[in-house]
Amino acid sequence: SAPSVSPALSAAELTALRDRALGDYAALVERGLSLDLTRGKPSPRQLDLAAELLTLPARGHLAADGTDTRNYGGLQGLTELREIFSGPLQVPAAQLIAAGNSSLALMHDSVVHAMLSPLPGAGRRWADEPRVAFLCPVPGYDRHFALCERFGIELIPVPMTADGPDMDVVERLVAEDAQIKGIWCVPKYSNPDGVCYSDETVRRLAGMTAAAPDFRIFWDNAYAVHHLTDTPVEIADLLALCAESGNPDRAFVYGSTSKITFAGAGVAFFGSSPANTAWLLGHMAKGTIGPDKINQLRHAEFLRDEAGVLEHMRRHRELLQPKFDLVQAILAKELGGTGLASWSSPAGGYFVSLDVLEGCAREVVRRAAEAGIALTPAGATHPYGDDPRDSTIRIAPSYPGLEELEQAITGLAVCVLLVATEKLLEQAG
Ligand code: PMP
Repeated sequence: SAPSVSPALSAAELTALRDRALGDYAALVERGLSLDLTRGKPSPRQLDLAAELLTLPARGHLAADGTDTRNYGGLQGLTELREIFSGPLQVPAAQLIAAGNSSLALMHDSVVHAMLSPLPGAGRRWADEPRVAFLCPVPGYDRHFALCERFGIELIPVPMTADGPDMDVVERLVAEDAQIKGIWCVPKYSNPDGVCYSDETVRRLAGMTAAAPDFRIFWDNAYAVHHLTDTPVEIADLLALCAESGNPDRAFVYGSTSKITFAGAGVAFFGSSPANTAWLLGHMAKGTIGPDKINQLRHAEFLRDEAGVLEHMRRHRELLQPKFDLVQAILAKELGGTGLASWSSPAGGYFVSLDVLEGCAREVVRRAAEAGIALTPAGATHPYGDDPRDSTIRIAPSYPGLEELEQAITGLAVCVLLVATEKLLEQAG
């Protein structure tokens, strides 16, 4: 949530802070930086952790069950790889599909297929509905929103809480509006505010009454194993809870190795009920004879088992944690106690969400860009790029080196101080 608008600073203190920020900002622009904090990309050193993949498969081209991975077929993906990710994604291997290199592509195709063919339980396909709407917990992931916009799906923002989306709002809307067909959820270390859904939230999502018989939870578990602490967060098992609550077909689960192995050459997963999985496989079969099983075999050989995945993620953490710690330290040092900003302290995932005074985010991003620090556009965390409070800024610390990151976050803090103090002095007249 946005920090309170009247920080505990006197007019004299504000003016002094503004004057210092003006000087700091001029010096910042003078340095002619060129830094990029826009997207959550793994750094080259993180990609190097999976360098061995480039030499695999080393044991030949046969999968454990004898499948010749060089040939056509095996639409659902290699069993041994589905078994490795069954635990982390909380989907029985038999109901998990290992597909191509992008979970976003699977989300996209799920929406397209629902547009063109009725989902299990649906009376008609979404293209024949007068209106299709999705709930979007905000702040959220801009590519989810863009995907829906491309197909004319209406986006309805829902506020986030520390436990996930505000379930009172979600339950009310989903129960009363049969045109609400989906909700976007990043349930663990969410993009961008790092929120992890509480067991109670997951239970309510699974059990709530939905007016639409073909309502689906798009459960994008992109950061399922991306921990930054010694106490990994475990979330409740949505798929199992949906089945227990009599809504077995409600959950569409997604995940990928994009931020485990190679972001552009990993493996993506879809998991759901037997009916939904068969529905998607049936439609996928019209577009491909099977996935790249050699890449899947290479991943199974490299990661070995669930413990191998977790061990590999510990090496990512060694590279990522100093960056996240640095962001926290700089923000605390430069902005702590001012009342001019608040920020998330994620226990995993790829982002820090920075909230500035209402009406300041766009100007902070503009000022930062002028100083050579590229940030995700303000508003991107909200449907239609419209953050009504103009308050949320997403920080992606993974890619830059520590030195560059320090420059970028220090510079960003200068921009926050400058824009916020100018705003408050302007309001004070
Ligand atoms: N979902 C979320 C929440 C993400 O943050 C990202 C990457 N930034 C993706 C999906 C993209 O995943 P993939 O590479 O598997 O398409």
